[in-house]
Amino acid sequence: MREACPMTQKLGSVSLQTDPLPKVVILEEGGLDPFVIRTAQRIIADHPEKVFFNHCPACNALARTPRARQCRFCGHDWHYNGDSQ
Ligand SMILES: [Zn+2]
Repeated sequence: MREACPMTQKLGSVSLQTDPLPKVVILEEGGLDPFVIRTAQRIIADHPEKVFFNHCPACNALARTPRARQCRFCGHDWHYNGDSQ
């Protein structure tokens, strides 16, 4: 008969304590989407100097990323500006 590893024996005697995870607290009524929108509005209001919206200079649509230089809506390309943002 094969002898069990001492570590296996030790671990085998330990039962995992599976306490239930704490329930997620819904911070606001109305679900996740309104909560996310209100949170974004609060961040923009509280820290306007840290929030940058990269709008297309041609159609004013919001670019895909803060560093994007081509519009996903109208196709305008402003790589030529030479800035390194
Ligand atoms: Zn555009």
